[in-house]
Amino acid sequence: MQHTASVIGAGVVGMATARAMQREGFAVTVYDPVPPGDSCSFGNAGHIATDHVRPLARFDVLARVPRMLTDRESALVIRWGDIPALLPWFARFARAARKAEVARGEAALGETMPHALPAWRTLLGEAGGSPLLVEKGSMIVYERKAAFDASALERTIMRRHGVRLEEITGDEARRRAPGLSPSIVAGVYFPDTAHVVDPHQVVVRLAEAFVRDGGRIEAAKVQRLVLRDGRIATLATDAGDRDAGAWVALCGGVDSALLLQPLGVKAPLTSERGYHLMLEGLQAGFDIPISSGERAFVLTPMAKGLRLAGTVEFGRRDSPPDWYRADRLLTQAKVLFPDLAPGPTSRWMGRRPTQPDFRPSIGRVPRVDNLLVGFGHNHLGLTLAAVTGLTLASLAMQRRAAIPLEPFAVERFG
Ligand SMILES: Cc1cc2nc3c(=O)[nH]c(=O)nc-3n(C[C@H](O)[C@H](O)[C@H](O)COP(=O)(O)OP(=O)(O)OC[C@H]3O[C@@H](n4cnc5c(N)ncnc54)[C@H](O)[C@@H]3O)c2cc1C
Repeated sequence: MQHTASVIGAGVVGMATARAMQREGFAVTVYDPVPPGDSCSFGNAGHIATDHVRPLARFDVLARVPRMLTDRESALVIRWGDIPALLPWFARFARAARKAEVARGEAALGETMPHALPAWRTLLGEAGGSPLLVEKGSMIVYERKAAFDASALERTIMRRHGVRLEEITGDEARRRAPGLSPSIVAGVYFPDTAHVVDPHQVVVRLAEAFVRDGGRIEAAKVQRLVLRDGRIATLATDAGDRDAGAWVALCGGVDSALLLQPLGVKAPLTSERGYHLMLEGLQAGFDIPISSGERAFVLTPMAKGLRLAGTVEFGRRDSPPDWYRADRLLTQAKVLFPDLAPGPTSRWMGRRPTQPDFRPSIGRVPRVDNLLVGFGHNHLGLTLAAVTGLTLASLAMQRRAAIPLEPFAVERFG
C-alpha cells in the first residue's frame, strides 16, 4: 500500500518538499489557503546564493541598529512603533551573534551549500523547469575601494567554506555588465551561483508536476496538529479534519510557529520584510544577478524584466507596507546603472521567515514520531528549498541526510 504524507504550506519550500516526498513514492497532499508560490516565494530576487555562507546574525549587523532607527535611506530599517514587539527577538539575535555561534552557522551553511544547486537541477529538471534555471554565476560590485577592502574578511571566510570567487577590477565588472557606472572600482564574481528567471513560476512548475503525478493540493488552512500516541494523527483544517498520514512536513514560512507552539516547540520567527520593484519588460544588458556591496540590494535579469530587490525591514507581521522602500530601489539602481530607463514598474513586499540565528529549521521534531519541519529560511529560501525538500524526504525514508542536521535542529530555541 502507498504511504500517505501531508505538507503544510505551498511556498517554494513546501512545494519542493512535496515533490521530493512524491518521488520517494508517498501519496502527498499539500495544504495552503493561498495558491502555490503566492506568499514570500512570489517575488524574491531569484538568486541561488550559494556564496551566502555567513548568517546575518553578527555583531557588525547589530552595530548598524542605531542607524536603522534613524536613517530612512539605510538598507536595514526597524519600524519605531514595532520595537517593543521585536525586543525579545533582538535579544536572541544578540546571543546568536556570539563568535562561536556565528562560526557554527557558517560551517553549517558551508556544508549545505554544495548540495543546493544539484538539488535544484534534480527537482526542476524532473518538473520540466530547467529553462527557468540559469547557471552563469553572479557578481557583487563596489563603488569604494575602502568598502571592497573592508569585505576581505568576508571573502576569506567564504573561501574557507569552499566558495569559489574571483576578485575583479571595475573594468572587468563593466565587461560582464555593460552599462555599469564608471564609479564602480572593484567587484567579486562568483562562478558557481545561479539564478532563476521567474521565482513564482518555479513554484508553479513544481506544483503542476506534482498534481500531474497524482499529488493533491487542498486550499485549506491547518489550524491545529492533533497529537495521538506520540504522532500527529489528524490535521484540523478550516475545511474539516484530515488524516495526517505517515508523515507531516511543516513548511508554513513565517507562520510555522503557530502550529508548533501547542506542541511545546519554540520557533522565534520574525517577519523580516523585503521589497521588490519590477522594471517590467526591461531587458538588462547583463545576464547575472548583480548586488551592490554598499547598498545591499540586487538587480536580477528575469523573464519579464529587471527585478530590483532587497531591503531588510524589521516590523510586525501585519504592519502596512512602506512603499518608499520599494521605490528607493530605483534611485539606488540608477547609481549603479546611470542609463537605466524604466517603463512600467510594479511593487511587491514579502515576509522572510527569519529566526534570530538566521538559520532555517530542517529536520525531525523531537518526541513527535512523524513530524518534519522545513521553515525559517530567511534570505535563503529559494537557495535552500530543493535541498530542504530532498533532506526531509530522506528522513521520511529513514535515510541519512546529506547535510548536517544538528545546527538546523528545531529544538535549539528550547
Ligand atoms: C525581497 C526579497 C528578496 C529575496 N531574495 C531571495 C533570493 O534571491 N534568494 C533566496 O534564496 N531567497 C530570497 N528571499 C527569501 C525567500 O523568498 C524566502 O526565504 C522563501 O520564499 C520562503 O519560502 P517558504 O516556502 O518558507 O515561505 P512562503 O513562500 O511564505 O510559503 C509559506 C506558505 O505556508 C502557508 N501556510 C502558513 N501557515 C499555514 C497553515 N497553518 N496552513 C496551511 N498553509 C499555511 C502560507 O500561506 C504560505 O503560502 C527573498 C525574500 C525577499 C522578501
